[in-house]
Amino acid sequence: MASVTLALSKGRIFEETLPLLDAAGIRPAEDPETSRKLILGTNRADLRLILVRAADVPTYVQYGAADLGVAGRDLLVEQGGQGLYQPLDLGIARCRMVVAVPDGFDYAAAVKQGARLRVATKYIATAREHFAAKGMHVDLIKLYGSMELAPLVGLADAIVDLVDTGGTLKANRLKAVEEILAVSSRLIVNPASLKLKRATLAPLIEALAKASARAAHG
Ligand code: AMP
Repeated sequence: MASVTLALSKGRIFEETLPLLDAAGIRPAEDPETSRKLILGTNRADLRLILVRAADVPTYVQYGAADLGVAGRDLLVEQGGQGLYQPLDLGIARCRMVVAVPDGFDYAAAVKQGARLRVATKYIATAREHFAAKGMHVDLIKLYGSMELAPLVGLADAIVDLVDTGGTLKANRLKAVEEILAVSSRLIVNPASLKLKRATLAPLIEALAKASARAAHG
């Protein structure tokens, strides 16, 4: 049997993928929150997990260093997802990518007046496409985290960021004014791996599809 590598990121994606793996009969040999290992064995001799930064999961799978992985739709849209087979929406780590502005800011009026806004975001390509489609001129400022801070200290008029409960926006007196994308995590697969290791990968993809469908229907 061919040996298979699954790339995951620590945190929410790992935590929410774990029950799906469990339903497919797969259990990691160690807890990544306490272990410092980056390669984890599982109860299956033909399957190992690697732990990488969320934004790096597509890269590992594109190059075939991992045969498959779990990545947020936000990153797949931002990075283009070239050379990846995306057979499954796992329905986990759900959130929305939105445009947000300070509570007192009249976004609709600014758009109507054709104001040139400064927008801070980690998602430059997605934001550029969104505002271009609306015919808006914006200056995009690349940040790597804590986007919510930017409008509070005068770095930007607006942000493009992920929102789940809305608690972070609220705590920082920001409001969502436009939705750009509904986000959840996808299973991504290297197409060459799928051909070469189909006997191992196809049943695994099918088991994860069943587990995520079961989870979605309660
Ligand atoms: P919340 O306060 O629940 O709206 O969560 C917002 C914060 O969590 C923001 O800083 C987001 O960047 C982050 N966040 C929410 N959902 C996700 C997700 N699915 N993946 C990555 N980051 C997320």
